[in-house]
Parts: sequence; C-alpha cells; structure tokens
Amino acid sequence: PAEPPAQQPVAARCPQADAVRACRALFEEHADDDDDGEEGEEEEGDVARFFDELLEKDAGLRGFYEAERETGRFLCLVCEGVGARAGKRFPGCAALVQHAGSVARTKRRLAHRAFADALGRLLGWGAGRTTPVPVNMLPGSCQNVA
Ligand SMILES: [Zn+2]
Repeated sequence: PAEPPAQQPVAARCPQADAVRACRALFEEHADDDDDGEEGEEEEGDVARFFDELLEKDAGLRGFYEAERETGRFLCLVCEGVGARAGKRFPGCAALVQHAGSVARTKRRLAHRAFADALGRLLGWGAGRTTPVPVNMLPGSCQNVA
C-alpha cells in the first residue's frame, strides 16, 4: 500500500516559501548556464512559462501578492532561486517589480524580466509599465530570432 503523502500544516506555510523552493529547483537545473551571463532563448521561454504557471496554479501565492501588494514584504523569487540575496525583502509589489524590471547586470536578468512581467500581468500592470522586452532587443540574444 502506498504511504499517504506528507501533509504540510497549512497555517504555517508561507506561499512564498513554496515558490522559492520551486525556483531553486528550476535554477539548479540551469546552474551551469550562468558562467558568462548569457542565457539562451530556450531557457528564457522556460522561465517565462514557469512564472506564468506558478502564479496561475498557486492560488495561495497569487492571493498573497494580490492581497498584500501594498503592505507585504516580498522576496524576489529569482534572487532567492539562485541564492543571490537570500532573505532580502521588498516593501510592496511595486518595489519588487521595479527591482525585477530594472536589474541590469546582475545574474539572471532575463529571468528577472520574466518574473516582473508575470507579476505585472497578475496585478494588472502589464500594459505600459512592465511590457515585455522583445527578445531581439536584448544584447547577446539577437541571433536566431524567429
Ligand atoms: Zn532579484
């Protein structure tokens, strides 16, 4: 007989903690790709889809962002995922999106953009404020644009 799945106590669960775990798993897969700061388009697509699905499927996380958007303390899932600034929290979603959308030369720039876009769409900021950067506008990834 199969063992029952381990239950996590719901009350003690932070929706961000689950998301951070998922991000760590994602970025661990790609850990080798980050030597020179170049990220492939394939990975960029994966990451964008990952954040869209994460926010779409995880109602707890989505609700957390929506309910706490002004007052919450938010982790950057990309930074947490790669361990760049573990534990840093941003006051409000606007600060978080600004961080993710303005990261220039740090690690995982494209992942940050994807995260900012997904969050912006969730919060209704998609038009204008955090429009996706066309892939062919990004330096270093202009080859083979379909
Ligand atoms: Zn970050």
